[in-house]
Amino acid sequence: MTHDQTIEPREVPLGGLRGLTVHRTLPSRPLPLIGAWCFVDHFGPTEHPMKVLPHPHIGLQTVTWPIEGSIRHRDSLGNDVVLEPGELNLMTSGDGVSHSEFSDPGPMHGVQLWVALPDHRRLGPAGFEHHPDLPRVGGDGWEGVVLVGRFAGAESKATVHTPLVGVQLTLQPGRHELGLDRDFEYGVLAVDGDITVAGESVSRRALRYLAPGRAALAVEVRQPTIVMLIGGEPFEEQIVMWWNFIGRTHDEIVAAREDWQALLPRFGRVEGHGDVVIPAPPLPHVRLRPRVRR
Ligand code: MN
Repeated sequence: MTHDQTIEPREVPLGGLRGLTVHRTLPSRPLPLIGAWCFVDHFGPTEHPMKVLPHPHIGLQTVTWPIEGSIRHRDSLGNDVVLEPGELNLMTSGDGVSHSEFSDPGPMHGVQLWVALPDHRRLGPAGFEHHPDLPRVGGDGWEGVVLVGRFAGAESKATVHTPLVGVQLTLQPGRHELGLDRDFEYGVLAVDGDITVAGESVSRRALRYLAPGRAALAVEVRQPTIVMLIGGEPFEEQIVMWWNFIGRTHDEIVAAREDWQALLPRFGRVEGHGDVVIPAPPLPHVRLRPRVRR
């Protein structure tokens, strides 16, 4: 079983060198997933705009969560939504969808996460949900917003396909005891300050991984701090992940790439960008292999 560990972020430029730089903690080499969560990008705070042109996805859900600043989402299903802080966009790719995401001018800060779809759902239809009214929870010196799953007695209506939880917590200075599900593994992302998780120091932007088996977790902060808590039952299916695609085999990914490059109807079309899309990068010269835990 994977042991508790801290994942330090890598800086990844989105959309070339002049694009927005994000801080990525998942996937990481030792840890491809936490539950079905397979991708954690933290961006900002920055004045640099997000301008992500139409691009495709398969086999996953995108979870977009602005903390500051709004993001306009347009997709091949015809949705055109401005997402405000405190609201959730959840897009389910199924076997193929495409979307664009552009921030409004001004400061921007947020996270984007991906959820791997299980076999029984991954080839299904695409879908999109905008959740402006998520459940809010709280206690002495803390408050939370439940993005997906159930936490502290509240349950989000966002549709997920494996046992999963995602919560934004705002913690006041002190020690906070969070109730957990023993069957879940968890990640705690220190969004805007250094934190202590179960006695371990975790720097701002790093992710602390916690193996299953805990019923509670102590998190300490010295100033008001936002953290993201993600978790789920360990996802046992082996995934092949490349660019914006999650599949099970090399050949599936190659086919998705070819379909996108040919602009086949599988991925639809995002209105408002003319014919401009993000082309897929070249495939590596080796066969893509499933990601495994080390
Ligand atoms: Mn995307």
